[in-house]
Amino acid sequence: MKRPLLALALSLSLAPALAHAEPPRLLTTIGMIADPAARIAGDCVQVEALIGPGLDPHLYQPRPSDIGRLQAADRIMALGLGLEGRLADVLARTGALMLGDTLDPGWLLEAEGAPDPHLWMDPHLWSSILPTLADTLSTMAPDCAADIASRMDAEATRMAALDDWAAQSLATIPDGQRVLLTAHDAFAYFTARYGLENLAIQGISTESEPSIAVIDSMAREAAERAIPAVFIETTLNPRAVRALIEAAAARGHTLALGGELYSDALGEAGSGADTYPGMIVANVTAITEALGGTPAPLPEGLLPE
Ligand SMILES: [Zn+2]
Repeated sequence: MKRPLLALALSLSLAPALAHAEPPRLLTTIGMIADPAARIAGDCVQVEALIGPGLDPHLYQPRPSDIGRLQAADRIMALGLGLEGRLADVLARTGALMLGDTLDPGWLLEAEGAPDPHLWMDPHLWSSILPTLADTLSTMAPDCAADIASRMDAEATRMAALDDWAAQSLATIPDGQRVLLTAHDAFAYFTARYGLENLAIQGISTESEPSIAVIDSMAREAAERAIPAVFIETTLNPRAVRALIEAAAARGHTLALGGELYSDALGEAGSGADTYPGMIVANVTAITEALGGTPAPLPEGLLPE
């Protein structure tokens, strides 16, 4: 009888120690927050994104399995500014940290009378969330504070290099072709940063499909101005873009398909756009090439290992 009791006593005394060894969990809504946070966290905090690759945060509804993930998280971080529209109630109830509220309101662009949430499109602006990420992670894992601070510096350096590379690449697009025409209005920060004109078939949110009249008037503008290309987005149905290409063709204008942009979610694992820097590199490369420019050589170490 002694041995089973001893085994039970051992397992009881080990259980709290093992539970303690698990790092705390940070759950973010979008991958564009989770990716830099995970690199800054290292092994000190476990970081995960709720909304996976290719999923549209404007329309995302919590799944039954998400409830457990939300409950298991020690901290929850969202962008806010209306991005995660259908998660707003859940996020408010869990006391999620809303990154959009931590930024200087003077940096925010307005669209349709509300702040535009697509801040990650400007790496210079997005790097301003890094101190908040580092502070939150350090609070969760105080023993790691020094390592977290130095990894945050490395991430800030990477984002500055990303911004320089993007500016250099996009500067090669010839005048007269510097128009970014996309399916939904996710690129205002991007075009403002890099001196392109921003045109979108539909607005900030993706709740409704654009009408035939909207598509036709955009096709007329594309034909009149000889806009070279339109881009599809990984999180959206390409129907509206294909309809626009057909409507432009009916007006005798060939609108090329500029490729697929990552607007509101990172890419699948192995796509090359499964990290935040990889997403920006994929977008800048596709845009630069489709509009007649030449991407600059990628600096070493720009993309995470
Ligand atoms: Zn969007």
